[in-house]
Amino acid sequence: MNFSEQKTELNAIYEAYEQAVALFKAGSICKPGCAFCCTHYGSVDITTLEGRIIWDWLSQRRADERAGLQRKIEKNRKSKEKGASAPCPFLKPDRTCLIYPIRPFSCRQLYSVRPCEGRGPTVHRQSREAAKKTIIQLQKLDATGYSGHISYILYLLDRKNFRKVYFNGGFDPGLIKDFAKKHGIAINRHAKSA
Ligand code: SF4
Ligand code: SF4
Repeated sequence: MNFSEQKTELNAIYEAYEQAVALFKAGSICKPGCAFCCTHYGSVDITTLEGRIIWDWLSQRRADERAGLQRKIEKNRKSKEKGASAPCPFLKPDRTCLIYPIRPFSCRQLYSVRPCEGRGPTVHRQSREAAKKTIIQLQKLDATGYSGHISYILYLLDRKNFRKVYFNGGFDPGLIKDFAKKHGIAINRHAKSA
């Protein structure tokens, strides 16, 4: 499957999840500007395929905008490496999402039926179960890739030697072994069916 076909399939998986949880999400209190989940939630985990879509989008930005975002991504990565929570680098000053149309599943699955401050999102058990199955589908779709926190995956995608292998459908976990171990990066190929 080429990248374009993978993107089509990715969107079909997102859509199937939305349909599966539509009844539950109908009770959500989420609204634009409510972004506790983008600033205090531990990890925005993504697959390398989702990261590649964001990386592509970033590479099409103006140089100054891209440089500013890269600084924020690096800051997020360094905070995360120290174990601190950090605002998502794509959160805009008005607390909406700069990459909303291409936001990863980690963000799509999040909603809450009660205010999140102090206790995190309150999500239906059925939605959590559906999300677990969806994550397995996403990892299988990206079978030559990896999963991990957004700024770690974007860091990998910024490495030429990583892109050379991954963009060409290659699979070489040895290439990122030390980084993966230190940063809790999962190998998608190892995803077990839910
Ligand atoms: S998940 Fe919580 S913090 Fe995020 S938008 Fe919904 S209610 Fe707001
Ligand atoms: S990608 Fe967008 S929705 Fe997801 S955490 Fe970042 S700002 Fe929030």
